[in-house]
Amino acid sequence: MKKIEIEYEKPINKKIEILKKYIHKTNTEKPKKKIKKREKSSKSLKSNKTKSLKLKDNKSQEIIENKKSLSLEFRKTKFEEDYKLLKKMRITQEAPIDKYGASQCTKPNIDFPTYKFQTLVSLILSAQTKDEITYQTTQKLIEYGLTIENMIKIPIEKLTEIIYKVGFHNNKSKAIKKLSEVLREKYNDNPPENFKEILNLPGIGRKMGLLYMKECLNKIEGIAVDTHIHKIANRLGWVNNTKNPEKTEFELEKIVEKKYWNDINLILVGFGQEICKSFHPLCDKKCLLKNNCPYYLNNISCDKGKKRKNLMKRKSE
Ligand code: SF4
Repeated sequence: MKKIEIEYEKPINKKIEILKKYIHKTNTEKPKKKIKKREKSSKSLKSNKTKSLKLKDNKSQEIIENKKSLSLEFRKTKFEEDYKLLKKMRITQEAPIDKYGASQCTKPNIDFPTYKFQTLVSLILSAQTKDEITYQTTQKLIEYGLTIENMIKIPIEKLTEIIYKVGFHNNKSKAIKKLSEVLREKYNDNPPENFKEILNLPGIGRKMGLLYMKECLNKIEGIAVDTHIHKIANRLGWVNNTKNPEKTEFELEKIVEKKYWNDINLILVGFGQEICKSFHPLCDKKCLLKNNCPYYLNNISCDKGKKRKNLMKRKSE
C-alpha cells in the first residue's frame, strides 16, 4: 500500500512509467476471482482454520477496497489533466457535432412546446446516425411541419419516406408517431419537464433524456454518454472496462466534477468524431494525450515496436 501512495504523489503526465504500472495493476487486479479462490481453498480446511482464513479474507477485502478508492482518486486527477488537453485540442479542431449537433437542429424561435417536441424528435432521429444526416432530416421534417398535430396525421409510410436516410427509420417513424400520440393524450401537446417522465416517453432513452433536459430546460441531470464518450473514457482509463454507455455514465459521474458536466458531451463527442475514432484513431498525427493514454501505450505503441523489430529482423536476414 505504501508503495502505491508514494507513486500517486508524483505528477502524472510526466510519469509514464507510473501510468504503465497503473495499467498493469488495473489489468491484473481481479479481486473477485482472488476471493473465490480463497473461498474454495477454505472449504477444504477444518472449521477452526476457516475462522482465521475468514479474518485474512476480511483484511484482503479491505486492501482491495483501499486500492479501488486510490485508483478512483488517481482517475479523478487523471481526468482533470486529460480534460485540459482535450479542450485545447477541441479549440482548433471543429467537429460535425459543432455544426449539426442536437443544439443546432432546432431553433427556439417557435412556441416553447413545439420547440421541445422538435428537440425530442431530432434526438430520436440521432440514434445510430451521423450528425449531418440527423440535421438534414430534421430540417426536412420542419419544412413539412414538425408539430404534434402533423405527426399524428401523417401516414406512417410518408413519414418513413421523409426520414429514410437515418438509421432504423422504420422503428423511428413508429416511435415518432407513438410519441406524438402520448404527448397529445397525456400532456396536452406540451412535452413534460420532469426527467423521470421524459424517460418514460416512447423512443426516449437515458442519453436523449439528459440532452433534452440540457438543451430545452438548461438542467443538467447527468453526463450524456454516447458510444464516443464510452470509448474514450475506457481508452483513457477514466473508467475500468465498463460494458455499456450507461455503466460508463455512472462511473464517470463518480470522478468528473459537476462543473464539467455541461460541456463534457460536446468536447468528447467532437474529439471522438475527429481524432479518437473507433477504427484508426489519429494518435500519432493529432492527439496530445498519447503519452497519457493506456490504450495507446498498451496497443498502438507496442504494435509499432513489434513491427519495427520485425522489420529490422527481416532487413538483417
Ligand atoms: S492516444 Fe489515440 S486512443 Fe488515446 S485518446 Fe488519443 S486518439 Fe484516442
